[in-house]
Amino acid sequence: MKTLYQCEICNEIFPEFDKARACEKRGYTKRIANEGDIIVGYQEFGWFDGNKEWVHNWHPRYDKNFKDWVENRGMNGPIFNGAKICFNFLYKIIKINHIKHYTKYYMITGAMTGLSGYRFHTMSDQYGLISFRRSNKKLVEPKGALKEINELIKTGRL
Ligand SMILES: [Zn+2]
Repeated sequence: MKTLYQCEICNEIFPEFDKARACEKRGYTKRIANEGDIIVGYQEFGWFDGNKEWVHNWHPRYDKNFKDWVENRGMNGPIFNGAKICFNFLYKIIKINHIKHYTKYYMITGAMTGLSGYRFHTMSDQYGLISFRRSNKKLVEPKGALKEINELIKTGRL
């Protein structure tokens, strides 16, 4: 018979007590943002078709052609004076949890409806350092977002 020790955070099993305790003592990676924070995205998956309030670099001069861009899916931003503007969407962190010792952030944007892109986005420090650019904008997450994100997590889709 053999006694083994398990880290209660990541479930890794060690033959030595000290190693298991050291693993557990690592705790969780440092949290760099909080639930409710609004951050500026930079690797969106999808096209703008939602609420312009959720576009970080929106300019009033884009308002004129707003309807055209929304109807012409496939464009992630307007063309202005011959230059294509790339939108940065705003995301609200609506849930934070842990994957083993790592911190994972779940966020939603109102810039995409979900028809032409992913409204939900996740980031974790599992594969290296991450950082967030913050926005001071106050935005209310779309109704039902927390319920929807919990369902996606529960079913392993996020
Ligand atoms: Zn561990």
